Amino acid sequence: MNYDRYEVLYLLRNASAQTLDIDDYESGSSENNAFQECLNWARRHWRSLQIKKLSSYQYNPEIPRSNQTLCSVCLENFELNQTVRKLGCSHEFHSQCVDKWLKSKATCPLCRAPL
Ligand SMILES: [Zn+2]
Ligand SMILES: [Zn+2]
Repeated sequence: MNYDRYEVLYLLRNASAQTLDIDDYESGSSENNAFQECLNWARRHWRSLQIKKLSSYQYNPEIPRSNQTLCSVCLENFELNQTVRKLGCSHEFHSQCVDKWLKSKATCPLCRAPL
């Protein structure tokens, strides 16, 4: 059976990150594998859509937006004009660090809050 990928994406659009992270689908038949493959595709796209929706800004130490000065992914300080991404839990990271993380896990790397 062929699933329309955009149909799956539409169905998953409002699903929570946690729902998508649960691998409760038993694969076995080729039909299930096709569904699983489609689901994986939709998850990746759903994540990149979520990542695009997150806010980011150019870091400037003279105009601090929060008291966070360190990226907990690479453990380096934010530098002038680096792109900092702020998650819903208000933790901040280098966008290049956290975007990589968010592509495989839709949670904050620090507190594990869902996006
Ligand atoms: Zn970093
Ligand atoms: Zn967090």
